[in-house]
Amino acid sequence: MQDNRIRKVVIVGGGTAGWMSASLLARVVSGGLEIELIESDQIGTVGVGEATIPQIRYLCDALQYPEADFLRDVNGTYKLGIEFVNWARLGDRYIHTFGDVGRRLGVLDFHQVWLRAREMGIDRDLGEFSFNTIAAYANKFAHVEKLGDTGLLGLGYAFHFDATLVAKSLRKLSEANGVVRTEGKICDVHLNGETGFIESVELEGGKKVEGDLFIDCSGFRGLLIGEALGVKYVDWSHWLPANSAIAVQCEGVEPLLPYTRSTAHSAGWQWRIPLQNRIGNGHVYSDNYMSDDEAQNILMSNLDGKAVTEPRQLRFTTGKREHFWHKNCVGLGLASGFMEPLESTSIHLVQSGLSRLIDSFPTRDFTQVDIDEYNRRTHFEFDSIRDFLILHYHATERDDSDFWNYCRTMDVPDSLMEKWNLWKAHGRFYRNEDELFTIPSWVQVFLGQHIVPEQCHGIAKLLREADVQDYLEKINGFLMQTVEKMPSHREYIEKTCPLQEAS
Ligand SMILES: Cc1cc2nc3c(=O)[nH]c(=O)nc-3n(C[C@H](O)[C@H](O)[C@H](O)COP(=O)(O)OP(=O)(O)OC[C@H]3O[C@@H](n4cnc5c(N)ncnc54)[C@H](O)[C@@H]3O)c2cc1C
Repeated sequence: MQDNRIRKVVIVGGGTAGWMSASLLARVVSGGLEIELIESDQIGTVGVGEATIPQIRYLCDALQYPEADFLRDVNGTYKLGIEFVNWARLGDRYIHTFGDVGRRLGVLDFHQVWLRAREMGIDRDLGEFSFNTIAAYANKFAHVEKLGDTGLLGLGYAFHFDATLVAKSLRKLSEANGVVRTEGKICDVHLNGETGFIESVELEGGKKVEGDLFIDCSGFRGLLIGEALGVKYVDWSHWLPANSAIAVQCEGVEPLLPYTRSTAHSAGWQWRIPLQNRIGNGHVYSDNYMSDDEAQNILMSNLDGKAVTEPRQLRFTTGKREHFWHKNCVGLGLASGFMEPLESTSIHLVQSGLSRLIDSFPTRDFTQVDIDEYNRRTHFEFDSIRDFLILHYHATERDDSDFWNYCRTMDVPDSLMEKWNLWKAHGRFYRNEDELFTIPSWVQVFLGQHIVPEQCHGIAKLLREADVQDYLEKINGFLMQTVEKMPSHREYIEKTCPLQEAS
Protein backbone atom coordinates (compact mmCIF):
# COMPACT_ATOMS: atom_id res chain seq x y z
CA MET A 1 0.00 0.00 0.00
CA GLN A 2 1.18 3.48 -0.83
CA ASP A 3 2.70 5.41 2.07
CA ASN A 4 0.42 8.42 2.40
CA ARG A 5 1.13 9.28 6.03
CA ILE A 6 1.48 12.88 7.09
CA ARG A 7 5.19 13.07 7.83
CA LYS A 8 5.56 16.69 8.78
CA VAL A 9 3.30 19.32 10.37
CA VAL A 10 4.37 22.96 10.16
CA ILE A 11 2.78 25.31 12.68
CA VAL A 12 3.04 29.00 11.85
CA GLY A 13 2.85 31.17 14.97
CA GLY A 14 3.97 30.86 18.57
CA GLY A 15 1.12 32.53 20.44
CA THR A 16 -1.31 30.63 22.65
CA ALA A 17 -2.78 28.88 19.58
CA GLY A 18 0.57 27.82 18.13
CA TRP A 19 1.99 26.40 21.33
CA MET A 20 -1.28 24.72 22.29
CA SER A 21 -1.26 23.01 18.88
CA ALA A 22 2.37 21.97 19.16
CA SER A 23 2.13 20.64 22.71
CA LEU A 24 -1.08 18.71 22.14
CA LEU A 25 -0.06 17.16 18.81
CA ALA A 26 3.33 16.21 20.18
CA ARG A 27 1.61 14.51 23.12
CA VAL A 28 -1.08 12.57 21.25
CA VAL A 29 0.69 11.64 18.00
CA SER A 30 3.44 9.17 18.61
CA GLY A 31 6.17 8.03 16.27
CA GLY A 32 7.21 9.31 12.90
CA LEU A 33 5.60 12.76 12.90
CA GLU A 34 7.88 15.77 12.68
CA ILE A 35 6.48 19.01 14.11
CA GLU A 36 8.13 22.37 13.42
CA LEU A 37 6.83 25.66 14.79
CA ILE A 38 7.91 28.95 13.25
CA GLU A 39 7.50 32.21 15.12
CA SER A 40 8.88 35.68 14.90
CA ASP A 41 9.95 37.61 17.99
CA GLN A 42 9.92 40.67 15.76
CA ILE A 43 6.14 40.33 15.31
CA GLY A 44 5.25 39.12 18.80
CA THR A 45 1.92 37.79 20.06
CA VAL A 46 -1.41 39.24 21.13
CA GLY A 47 -0.85 37.80 24.59
CA VAL A 48 -3.93 39.19 26.31
CA GLY A 49 -6.08 36.04 26.50
CA GLU A 50 -6.17 35.46 30.24
CA ALA A 51 -9.61 34.08 31.11
CA THR A 52 -10.86 30.63 30.20
CA ILE A 53 -13.83 28.30 30.53
CA PRO A 54 -13.84 24.91 32.31
CA GLN A 55 -12.85 22.92 29.20
CA ILE A 56 -9.30 24.26 29.69
CA ARG A 57 -8.90 21.57 32.36
CA TYR A 58 -9.12 18.89 29.64
CA LEU A 59 -6.02 20.47 28.12
CA CYS A 60 -4.10 19.91 31.35
CA ASP A 61 -5.40 16.33 31.42
CA ALA A 62 -4.44 15.67 27.82
CA LEU A 63 -0.98 17.13 28.33
CA GLN A 64 -0.57 15.26 31.63
CA TYR A 65 0.23 18.61 33.16
CA PRO A 66 -1.02 18.51 36.79
CA GLU A 67 -3.37 21.40 37.44
CA ALA A 68 -1.49 22.72 40.48
CA ASP A 69 1.83 22.73 38.57
CA PHE A 70 0.20 24.49 35.66
CA LEU A 71 -1.35 27.20 37.85
CA ARG A 72 1.92 27.73 39.69
CA ASP A 73 3.77 28.13 36.37
CA VAL A 74 1.30 30.56 34.80
CA ASN A 75 0.41 32.84 37.75
CA GLY A 76 -2.99 31.15 37.70
CA THR A 77 -6.10 31.61 39.80
CA TYR A 78 -9.48 29.89 39.86
CA LYS A 79 -12.47 31.25 38.00
CA LEU A 80 -16.02 30.37 39.06
CA GLY A 81 -17.74 32.50 36.44
CA ILE A 82 -18.13 36.02 35.09
CA GLU A 83 -19.87 38.81 36.92
CA PHE A 84 -21.81 41.08 34.58
CA VAL A 85 -22.25 44.61 35.90
CA ASN A 86 -24.51 47.27 34.33
CA TRP A 87 -25.43 45.12 31.33
CA ALA A 88 -29.21 45.14 31.21
CA ARG A 89 -29.67 48.16 33.48
CA LEU A 90 -27.27 50.52 35.21
CA GLY A 91 -26.78 49.20 38.75
CA ASP A 92 -27.47 45.54 37.82
CA ARG A 93 -25.13 42.70 38.62
CA TYR A 94 -25.31 38.94 38.20
CA ILE A 95 -22.86 36.09 37.75
CA HIS A 96 -22.92 33.68 34.85
CA THR A 97 -21.30 30.78 36.66
CA PHE A 98 -19.78 27.56 35.42
CA GLY A 99 -21.65 25.41 37.89
CA ASP A 100 -25.14 24.05 38.01
CA VAL A 101 -27.98 26.05 39.52
CA GLY A 102 -30.22 24.28 42.05
CA ARG A 103 -31.29 20.72 41.41
CA ARG A 104 -33.83 19.16 39.06
CA LEU A 105 -37.16 18.34 40.66
CA GLY A 106 -38.51 15.20 39.00
CA VAL A 107 -38.87 16.05 35.30
CA LEU A 108 -38.43 19.77 35.88
CA ASP A 109 -35.23 21.73 35.37
CA PHE A 110 -34.51 23.79 38.47
CA HIS A 111 -35.26 27.08 36.76
CA GLN A 112 -38.86 25.92 36.26
CA VAL A 113 -39.25 25.57 40.03
CA TRP A 114 -37.72 29.01 40.43
CA LEU A 115 -40.11 30.46 37.84
CA ARG A 116 -43.05 28.86 39.64
CA ALA A 117 -41.85 30.37 42.91
CA ARG A 118 -41.73 33.76 41.23
CA GLU A 119 -45.31 33.34 40.01
CA MET A 120 -46.25 32.60 43.63
CA GLY A 121 -44.63 35.87 44.71
CA ILE A 122 -41.56 34.23 46.28
CA ASP A 123 -38.82 36.70 45.40
CA ARG A 124 -35.45 34.93 45.56
CA ASP A 125 -32.43 35.73 43.43
CA LEU A 126 -31.43 32.82 41.16
CA GLY A 127 -27.85 33.12 42.46
CA GLU A 128 -29.04 32.04 45.94
CA PHE A 129 -29.32 28.52 44.52
CA SER A 130 -25.99 28.45 42.73
CA PHE A 131 -23.06 26.97 44.65
CA ASN A 132 -20.69 28.85 42.36
CA THR A 133 -22.36 32.23 42.88
CA ILE A 134 -22.48 31.89 46.67
CA ALA A 135 -18.81 30.82 46.78
CA ALA A 136 -17.79 33.56 44.32
CA TYR A 137 -19.40 36.36 46.33
CA ALA A 138 -17.86 34.95 49.53
CA ASN A 139 -14.41 34.84 47.80
CA LYS A 140 -14.11 31.14 48.60
CA PHE A 141 -12.70 28.24 46.64
CA ALA A 142 -11.99 24.53 47.10
CA HIS A 143 -12.22 21.46 44.91
CA VAL A 144 -15.70 20.10 45.60
CA GLU A 145 -16.93 17.44 43.19
CA LYS A 146 -20.34 16.79 44.67
CA LEU A 147 -22.28 17.68 47.75
CA GLY A 148 -22.77 14.41 49.62
CA ASP A 149 -25.93 12.61 48.60
CA THR A 150 -27.92 15.80 48.03
CA GLY A 151 -27.86 15.44 44.22
CA LEU A 152 -26.30 18.91 44.03
CA LEU A 153 -23.25 19.22 41.82
CA GLY A 154 -19.91 20.55 43.05
CA LEU A 155 -18.08 23.69 41.93
CA GLY A 156 -17.46 24.12 38.21
CA TYR A 157 -14.34 26.14 37.55
CA ALA A 158 -11.86 27.39 34.98
CA PHE A 159 -8.61 29.37 35.25
CA HIS A 160 -7.31 32.89 34.91
CA PHE A 161 -3.68 33.00 33.81
CA ASP A 162 -0.86 35.01 32.29
CA ALA A 163 -1.02 34.26 28.54
CA THR A 164 2.70 34.90 28.04
CA LEU A 165 3.59 32.38 30.74
CA VAL A 166 1.19 29.85 29.20
CA ALA A 167 2.95 30.10 25.83
CA LYS A 168 6.31 29.78 27.63
CA SER A 169 5.23 26.68 29.60
CA LEU A 170 3.67 24.99 26.58
CA ARG A 171 6.79 25.73 24.56
CA LYS A 172 8.93 24.00 27.18
CA LEU A 173 6.63 20.99 27.13
CA SER A 174 6.54 20.89 23.32
CA GLU A 175 10.30 21.08 22.93
CA ALA A 176 10.72 18.33 25.52
CA ASN A 177 8.44 16.22 23.31
CA GLY A 178 10.46 16.80 20.16
CA VAL A 179 8.88 19.89 18.59
CA VAL A 180 11.43 21.99 16.70
CA ARG A 181 11.11 25.77 17.06
CA THR A 182 12.38 28.01 14.30
CA GLU A 183 12.78 31.72 14.88
CA GLY A 184 12.19 33.80 11.77
CA LYS A 185 9.80 35.92 9.79
CA ILE A 186 7.92 34.26 6.94
CA CYS A 187 8.02 36.41 3.83
CA ASP A 188 6.55 34.06 1.23
CA VAL A 189 4.29 31.04 0.94
CA HIS A 190 4.79 28.60 -1.96
CA LEU A 191 1.76 26.81 -3.40
CA ASN A 192 1.67 23.79 -5.70
CA GLY A 193 0.86 25.06 -9.20
CA GLU A 194 -1.67 22.27 -9.84
CA THR A 195 -3.41 21.59 -6.55
CA GLY A 196 -3.00 24.95 -4.83
CA PHE A 197 -1.79 23.11 -1.71
CA ILE A 198 0.89 24.77 0.41
CA GLU A 199 4.29 23.22 -0.26
CA SER A 200 6.53 25.42 1.86
CA VAL A 201 6.95 28.71 3.65
CA GLU A 202 9.98 30.88 3.09
CA LEU A 203 11.71 32.86 5.83
CA GLU A 204 13.57 36.13 5.44
CA GLY A 205 17.09 35.05 4.54
CA GLY A 206 15.81 32.43 2.07
CA LYS A 207 15.33 29.32 4.24
CA LYS A 208 12.36 27.21 3.09
CA VAL A 209 10.36 25.00 5.43
CA GLU A 210 8.34 22.27 3.69
CA GLY A 211 5.48 20.29 5.19
CA ASP A 212 2.47 18.07 4.49
CA LEU A 213 -0.01 19.73 6.84
CA PHE A 214 0.17 23.42 7.79
CA ILE A 215 -1.51 24.88 10.86
CA ASP A 216 -1.99 28.61 10.59
CA CYS A 217 -1.70 30.21 14.03
CA SER A 218 -0.30 33.46 12.70
CA GLY A 219 -2.87 35.70 14.39
CA PHE A 220 -5.40 38.13 12.94
CA ARG A 221 -3.82 38.40 9.48
CA GLY A 222 -4.13 34.67 8.73
CA LEU A 223 -0.89 34.52 6.79
CA LEU A 224 -1.61 31.10 5.24
CA ILE A 225 -5.37 30.55 5.33
CA GLY A 226 -6.28 34.13 4.43
CA GLU A 227 -3.39 35.75 2.58
CA ALA A 228 -1.92 32.72 0.77
CA LEU A 229 -5.03 30.57 0.21
CA GLY A 230 -7.51 33.43 -0.14
CA VAL A 231 -10.13 32.10 2.28
CA LYS A 232 -12.45 35.03 2.95
CA TYR A 233 -13.42 36.46 6.33
CA VAL A 234 -17.12 36.67 7.27
CA ASP A 235 -17.69 39.96 9.09
CA TRP A 236 -20.08 39.91 12.08
CA SER A 237 -19.54 43.53 13.16
CA HIS A 238 -23.21 44.37 12.57
CA TRP A 239 -24.12 41.97 15.40
CA LEU A 240 -21.09 42.43 17.62
CA PRO A 241 -20.00 46.02 16.93
CA ALA A 242 -16.99 46.27 19.27
CA ASN A 243 -13.83 46.52 17.17
CA SER A 244 -11.17 47.85 19.55
CA ALA A 245 -9.63 47.10 22.90
CA ILE A 246 -7.13 48.74 25.22
CA ALA A 247 -5.39 46.43 27.70
CA VAL A 248 -3.44 47.34 30.82
CA GLN A 249 -2.23 45.49 33.91
CA CYS A 250 -2.50 46.90 37.40
CA GLU A 251 -1.33 45.92 40.87
CA GLY A 252 -3.33 43.26 42.62
CA VAL A 253 -5.70 44.07 45.48
CA GLU A 254 -7.29 41.95 48.17
CA PRO A 255 -9.48 40.02 48.30
CA LEU A 256 -8.44 37.79 45.43
CA LEU A 257 -11.72 37.39 43.58
CA PRO A 258 -12.43 33.93 42.13
CA TYR A 259 -14.22 35.33 39.07
CA THR A 260 -13.83 37.63 36.09
CA ARG A 261 -15.75 40.90 36.12
CA SER A 262 -17.24 42.46 33.01
CA THR A 263 -18.53 45.99 33.55
CA ALA A 264 -20.54 47.55 30.75
CA HIS A 265 -19.68 51.16 29.86
CA SER A 266 -21.39 53.41 27.32
CA ALA A 267 -19.84 51.90 24.15
CA GLY A 268 -18.59 48.50 25.31
CA TRP A 269 -17.32 46.92 28.49
CA GLN A 270 -14.30 46.49 30.73
CA TRP A 271 -12.73 43.21 31.84
CA ARG A 272 -11.05 42.57 35.19
CA ILE A 273 -9.09 39.34 35.49
CA PRO A 274 -7.40 38.69 38.85
CA LEU A 275 -4.10 36.78 38.78
CA GLN A 276 -2.10 35.89 41.89
CA ASN A 277 -0.01 39.06 41.93
CA ARG A 278 -1.70 41.46 39.50
CA ILE A 279 -4.93 42.20 37.68
CA GLY A 280 -5.43 42.14 33.90
CA ASN A 281 -7.78 44.85 32.66
CA GLY A 282 -9.08 45.93 29.31
CA HIS A 283 -11.75 48.05 27.70
CA VAL A 284 -13.49 46.52 24.68
CA TYR A 285 -15.41 49.15 22.69
CA SER A 286 -16.54 50.30 19.29
CA ASP A 287 -14.54 53.19 17.89
CA ASN A 288 -17.63 54.17 15.89
CA TYR A 289 -19.23 55.20 19.17
CA MET A 290 -16.27 56.27 21.35
CA SER A 291 -12.85 57.80 20.71
CA ASP A 292 -9.71 55.90 21.71
CA ASP A 293 -8.80 58.68 24.18
CA GLU A 294 -12.15 58.48 25.92
CA ALA A 295 -11.96 54.68 26.04
CA GLN A 296 -8.52 54.87 27.61
CA ASN A 297 -9.62 57.47 30.18
CA ILE A 298 -12.54 55.28 31.22
CA LEU A 299 -10.27 52.26 31.57
CA MET A 300 -7.57 54.07 33.54
CA SER A 301 -10.05 55.67 35.91
CA ASN A 302 -11.69 52.33 36.68
CA LEU A 303 -8.66 50.30 37.81
CA ASP A 304 -8.56 48.81 41.29
CA GLY A 305 -4.79 49.23 41.65
CA LYS A 306 -1.91 51.28 40.23
CA ALA A 307 -1.22 50.58 36.52
CA VAL A 308 1.99 48.57 36.07
CA THR A 309 2.13 48.49 32.25
CA GLU A 310 1.51 51.02 29.52
CA PRO A 311 -1.98 50.77 27.98
CA ARG A 312 -1.88 48.74 24.78
CA GLN A 313 -4.24 49.30 21.83
CA LEU A 314 -5.66 46.41 19.80
CA ARG A 315 -8.02 46.39 16.78
CA PHE A 316 -10.12 43.51 15.53
CA THR A 317 -13.00 42.57 13.29
CA THR A 318 -15.47 40.14 14.78
CA GLY A 319 -16.16 37.21 12.49
CA LYS A 320 -14.88 33.92 11.16
CA ARG A 321 -13.27 32.38 8.09
CA GLU A 322 -15.50 30.97 5.35
CA HIS A 323 -13.55 27.71 5.78
CA PHE A 324 -11.46 26.79 8.79
CA TRP A 325 -9.72 23.96 6.97
CA HIS A 326 -8.86 24.51 3.31
CA LYS A 327 -6.67 22.19 1.23
CA ASN A 328 -3.73 21.22 3.48
CA CYS A 329 -4.10 24.14 5.89
CA VAL A 330 -6.08 24.44 9.14
CA GLY A 331 -6.50 27.88 10.69
CA LEU A 332 -6.61 28.05 14.48
CA GLY A 333 -6.77 30.91 16.97
CA LEU A 334 -7.08 34.45 15.72
CA ALA A 335 -6.26 33.30 12.16
CA SER A 336 -9.56 31.39 12.10
CA GLY A 337 -11.82 34.12 13.43
CA PHE A 338 -12.41 36.22 16.49
CA MET A 339 -15.25 36.95 18.86
CA GLU A 340 -14.63 39.41 21.62
CA PRO A 341 -13.61 37.92 24.98
CA LEU A 342 -16.97 38.51 26.69
CA GLU A 343 -17.39 34.82 27.53
CA SER A 344 -13.67 33.90 27.26
CA THR A 345 -14.24 31.55 24.33
CA SER A 346 -11.24 32.12 22.01
CA ILE A 347 -8.75 29.83 23.72
CA HIS A 348 -11.48 27.21 23.97
CA LEU A 349 -12.05 27.47 20.21
CA VAL A 350 -8.37 26.67 19.66
CA GLN A 351 -8.74 23.67 21.91
CA SER A 352 -11.95 22.38 20.33
CA GLY A 353 -10.51 22.95 16.84
CA LEU A 354 -7.51 20.87 17.83
CA SER A 355 -9.71 18.15 19.23
CA ARG A 356 -11.65 18.01 15.93
CA LEU A 357 -8.38 18.00 13.98
CA ILE A 358 -7.08 15.10 16.03
CA ASP A 359 -10.42 13.29 15.45
CA SER A 360 -10.09 13.68 11.70
CA PHE A 361 -6.30 13.72 11.42
CA PRO A 362 -5.70 13.32 7.67
CA THR A 363 -3.48 11.33 5.38
CA ARG A 364 -1.82 13.08 2.48
CA ASP A 365 -4.99 12.37 0.43
CA PHE A 366 -6.81 15.08 2.42
CA THR A 367 -10.23 13.49 1.92
CA GLN A 368 -12.74 16.26 1.22
CA VAL A 369 -15.58 14.64 3.15
CA ASP A 370 -13.51 14.80 6.37
CA ILE A 371 -12.56 18.40 5.70
CA ASP A 372 -16.21 19.32 5.07
CA GLU A 373 -17.28 17.72 8.35
CA TYR A 374 -14.53 19.54 10.25
CA ASN A 375 -15.73 22.82 8.76
CA ARG A 376 -19.41 22.06 9.42
CA ARG A 377 -18.80 21.32 13.08
CA THR A 378 -16.54 24.33 13.54
CA HIS A 379 -19.06 26.67 11.91
CA PHE A 380 -21.74 25.31 14.21
CA GLU A 381 -19.62 26.02 17.28
CA PHE A 382 -18.68 29.53 16.16
CA ASP A 383 -22.29 30.40 15.27
CA SER A 384 -23.75 29.19 18.55
CA ILE A 385 -21.16 31.12 20.58
CA ARG A 386 -21.91 34.19 18.46
CA ASP A 387 -25.61 33.92 19.33
CA PHE A 388 -24.84 33.63 23.04
CA LEU A 389 -22.68 36.77 22.92
CA ILE A 390 -25.30 38.72 20.96
CA LEU A 391 -27.83 37.85 23.67
CA HIS A 392 -25.81 39.88 26.22
CA TYR A 393 -25.92 42.98 24.03
CA HIS A 394 -29.41 42.73 22.59
CA ALA A 395 -31.22 41.82 25.82
CA THR A 396 -30.66 45.21 27.37
CA GLU A 397 -32.93 47.95 28.58
CA ARG A 398 -30.16 50.53 28.40
CA ASP A 399 -30.99 53.63 26.37
CA ASP A 400 -28.29 55.95 27.71
CA SER A 401 -26.03 55.90 24.62
CA ASP A 402 -26.16 55.46 20.85
CA PHE A 403 -24.22 52.22 21.24
CA TRP A 404 -26.81 50.62 23.51
CA ASN A 405 -29.68 51.97 21.42
CA TYR A 406 -28.13 50.26 18.41
CA CYS A 407 -27.59 46.95 20.23
CA ARG A 408 -31.07 46.93 21.74
CA THR A 409 -32.84 47.54 18.43
CA MET A 410 -30.60 45.69 15.93
CA ASP A 411 -31.78 42.64 13.98
CA VAL A 412 -30.33 39.44 15.40
CA PRO A 413 -29.82 36.00 13.79
CA ASP A 414 -32.94 33.82 13.40
CA SER A 415 -31.13 31.04 15.27
CA LEU A 416 -31.03 33.28 18.36
CA MET A 417 -34.63 34.45 17.97
CA GLU A 418 -35.85 30.83 17.86
CA LYS A 419 -34.20 30.15 21.24
CA TRP A 420 -35.40 33.45 22.63
CA ASN A 421 -39.06 32.91 21.63
CA LEU A 422 -39.10 29.41 23.05
CA TRP A 423 -37.57 30.64 26.30
CA LYS A 424 -39.94 33.62 26.53
CA ALA A 425 -43.08 31.48 26.28
CA HIS A 426 -42.51 28.81 28.97
CA GLY A 427 -38.81 28.94 29.87
CA ARG A 428 -37.92 26.05 27.57
CA PHE A 429 -34.44 25.62 26.18
CA TYR A 430 -33.01 22.76 24.14
CA ARG A 431 -29.29 22.38 23.71
CA ASN A 432 -28.20 21.30 20.23
CA GLU A 433 -25.41 18.88 19.35
CA ASP A 434 -21.94 20.15 20.10
CA GLU A 435 -23.30 23.43 21.48
CA LEU A 436 -20.81 24.88 23.93
CA PHE A 437 -23.01 26.64 26.44
CA THR A 438 -25.29 24.52 28.60
CA ILE A 439 -28.86 25.14 29.72
CA PRO A 440 -27.78 26.71 33.08
CA SER A 441 -25.57 29.15 31.14
CA TRP A 442 -28.38 30.35 28.89
CA VAL A 443 -30.81 30.46 31.83
CA GLN A 444 -28.46 32.58 33.95
CA VAL A 445 -27.84 35.06 31.15
CA PHE A 446 -31.49 35.26 30.03
CA LEU A 447 -32.62 35.93 33.60
CA GLY A 448 -29.62 38.13 34.40
CA GLN A 449 -30.60 40.28 31.42
CA HIS A 450 -34.25 40.37 32.63
CA ILE A 451 -35.67 38.17 29.88
CA VAL A 452 -38.18 36.36 32.08
CA PRO A 453 -40.56 33.76 30.59
CA GLU A 454 -44.23 34.69 30.52
CA GLN A 455 -45.15 31.45 32.28
CA CYS A 456 -43.45 28.43 33.75
CA HIS A 457 -43.72 24.82 32.52
CA GLY A 458 -47.20 23.26 32.75
CA ILE A 459 -46.02 20.65 35.25
CA ALA A 460 -44.39 23.30 37.46
CA LYS A 461 -47.82 24.98 37.66
CA LEU A 462 -49.02 21.95 39.62
CA LEU A 463 -46.45 22.39 42.42
CA ARG A 464 -47.75 23.45 45.84
CA GLU A 465 -46.45 26.66 47.39
CA ALA A 466 -45.32 25.07 50.66
CA ASP A 467 -43.35 22.41 48.74
CA VAL A 468 -41.69 25.03 46.55
CA GLN A 469 -40.75 27.13 49.61
CA ASP A 470 -39.33 24.11 51.37
CA TYR A 471 -37.40 22.94 48.31
CA LEU A 472 -35.75 26.32 47.79
CA GLU A 473 -34.99 26.77 51.47
CA LYS A 474 -33.24 23.42 51.75
CA ILE A 475 -31.04 23.98 48.71
CA ASN A 476 -30.01 27.47 49.74
CA GLY A 477 -29.42 26.44 53.36
CA PHE A 478 -27.22 23.55 52.40
CA LEU A 479 -25.16 25.63 49.97
CA MET A 480 -24.66 28.44 52.49
CA GLN A 481 -23.46 26.01 55.16
CA THR A 482 -21.04 24.37 52.72
CA VAL A 483 -19.53 27.65 51.55
CA GLU A 484 -19.14 28.82 55.15
CA LYS A 485 -16.66 25.99 55.79
CA MET A 486 -14.55 26.57 52.65
CA PRO A 487 -11.19 28.41 52.65
CA SER A 488 -10.79 31.75 50.95
CA HIS A 489 -9.59 31.74 47.35
CA ARG A 490 -6.27 33.28 48.44
CA GLU A 491 -5.77 30.70 51.22
CA TYR A 492 -6.47 27.86 48.82
CA ILE A 493 -4.05 29.20 46.21
CA GLU A 494 -1.32 29.76 48.82
CA LYS A 495 -1.73 26.18 49.96
CA THR A 496 -1.96 24.43 46.60
CA CYS A 497 -0.31 26.40 43.80
CA PRO A 498 1.44 29.63 44.86
CA LEU A 499 3.38 31.48 42.21
CA GLN A 500 7.04 30.67 42.76
CA GLU A 501 8.77 33.64 41.30
CA ALA A 502 7.76 37.13 40.29
CA SER A 503 6.63 37.14 36.67
C1 LIG B 1 -8.50 42.20 23.47
C2 LIG B 1 -8.44 40.71 23.50
C3 LIG B 1 -8.74 40.03 24.69
C4 LIG B 1 -8.74 38.63 24.72
N1 LIG B 1 -9.07 37.98 25.87
C5 LIG B 1 -9.23 36.64 25.83
C6 LIG B 1 -9.64 35.91 26.97
O1 LIG B 1 -9.83 36.46 28.06
N2 LIG B 1 -9.82 34.58 26.86
C7 LIG B 1 -9.63 33.92 25.68
O2 LIG B 1 -9.87 32.71 25.60
N3 LIG B 1 -9.15 34.57 24.61
C8 LIG B 1 -8.97 35.90 24.65
N4 LIG B 1 -8.50 36.54 23.55
C9 LIG B 1 -8.09 35.78 22.39
C10 LIG B 1 -6.71 35.20 22.64
O3 LIG B 1 -5.81 36.20 22.98
C11 LIG B 1 -6.24 34.48 21.39
O4 LIG B 1 -7.22 33.59 20.98
C12 LIG B 1 -5.01 33.69 21.69
O5 LIG B 1 -4.04 34.50 22.26
C13 LIG B 1 -4.47 33.07 20.45
O6 LIG B 1 -3.81 34.00 19.67
P1 LIG B 1 -2.99 33.43 18.47
O7 LIG B 1 -1.99 32.49 18.99
O8 LIG B 1 -3.97 32.94 17.46
O9 LIG B 1 -2.32 34.72 17.82
P2 LIG B 1 -1.09 35.64 18.30
O10 LIG B 1 -0.97 35.72 19.76
O11 LIG B 1 -1.27 36.93 17.54
O12 LIG B 1 0.19 34.91 17.75
C14 LIG B 1 0.55 34.97 16.39
C15 LIG B 1 1.90 34.33 16.17
O13 LIG B 1 2.18 34.28 14.79
C16 LIG B 1 3.49 34.71 14.56
N5 LIG B 1 3.59 35.29 13.22
C17 LIG B 1 2.72 36.14 12.61
N6 LIG B 1 3.18 36.47 11.39
C18 LIG B 1 4.34 35.80 11.22
C19 LIG B 1 5.30 35.74 10.18
N7 LIG B 1 5.17 36.45 9.07
N8 LIG B 1 6.39 34.97 10.36
C20 LIG B 1 6.57 34.24 11.49
N9 LIG B 1 5.70 34.27 12.51
C21 LIG B 1 4.60 35.05 12.37
C22 LIG B 1 3.75 35.72 15.66
O14 LIG B 1 5.13 35.88 15.88
C23 LIG B 1 3.06 35.05 16.84
O15 LIG B 1 3.94 34.13 17.42
C24 LIG B 1 -8.43 37.93 23.53
C25 LIG B 1 -8.08 38.62 22.37
C26 LIG B 1 -8.10 39.99 22.34
C27 LIG B 1 -7.73 40.71 21.07
